[in-house]
Amino acid sequence: MVHVAKKCVICARLTSDFSYGVDCCSACKMFFRRHVVKEALLKPCLSGNQACPKDFLAGCQFCRFHKCLQSGMTLEPLVPKLPLEELFEKLSDFDRHRNRILSDYHPLDPDLNVSTILFFKKLKYQQRNDLVPMKFSSWIYISSIATIEFMKKLPFIYLANSSDQLILVKSSFIKVSSFSAASRAYFSNQHALSFPDGSDVLPFTPDVKGLEEIGNRIRTRLVSKFIELQLSKEEFLLVLILIFCNPALLDLSETGQILVSTYQSVYSNALFEYCMETYEKLGPCRYTELLSLITLAEKHLEDVNNYFVILQLHGMDFLIPAVVKEGINLI
Ligand SMILES: [Zn+2]
Ligand SMILES: [Zn+2]
Repeated sequence: MVHVAKKCVICARLTSDFSYGVDCCSACKMFFRRHVVKEALLKPCLSGNQACPKDFLAGCQFCRFHKCLQSGMTLEPLVPKLPLEELFEKLSDFDRHRNRILSDYHPLDPDLNVSTILFFKKLKYQQRNDLVPMKFSSWIYISSIATIEFMKKLPFIYLANSSDQLILVKSSFIKVSSFSAASRAYFSNQHALSFPDGSDVLPFTPDVKGLEEIGNRIRTRLVSKFIELQLSKEEFLLVLILIFCNPALLDLSETGQILVSTYQSVYSNALFEYCMETYEKLGPCRYTELLSLITLAEKHLEDVNNYFVILQLHGMDFLIPAVVKEGINLI
């Protein structure tokens, strides 16, 4: 057999290898494999997230990985497909960590925003003092932080470029946070969303008319659906991920779409497999019902958005915490 040397489509070294659907050298092949299979984190781009110059490429993990995706290296066959039990254990761990931050800690920095939460390597926390009462704004602040810390543990977030990370997180962290609050209520037999100390998830606004109906929908609609479906913990975890694993978002880059749609198919396959194992013949029907929760979370976000727009129209934007403003569209 004659081996014809070609250029590696990623680093341009001469190679006769063909792997993952493209001509690439074994170093680039191993590099791609390590980050997808072993889920190794990527070091940030050496030139600050501008595309690196060509001769820089092999040295910059971030740009090299994205060049692999752009060159058409096939991602999905490499993504680890954990047995369901292991997958649930891993996601539960992430979720427990989110809950711990929410219930017991507060960040040392009082002015974090979505991008600092996403791109700070390790946020510093302090154990919360029970004697200091939490206000609405402090609950919203810590629950947004805990949610974003959870989201950034997923590979389609941390492997994405920084502008895609911002798009994915800003469009969904309120949904993810509310969905988690709904699970906290549901699993402790409550019928309405509340913060861990039992306080209301919406600010106290006795003077604003017209908020009651929409406010009650925000507090109860998700939990009611969980009760109706008798949602299991496993179903909750997978739907929670699918809420922000959405490749249809406007403005996602080409590599962002590849990453998100690949992982979306991995997590939805896992959900389907779970439904088939648990509900057998009724599995496909259950799966469809569960996916309707994603639409419901979208409607929930619309309600939250409208609620805060009404507050804004009444000149009460001061009640809307800065980090929340990044997740909604005010007028
Ligand atoms: Zn190469
Ligand atoms: Zn780079």
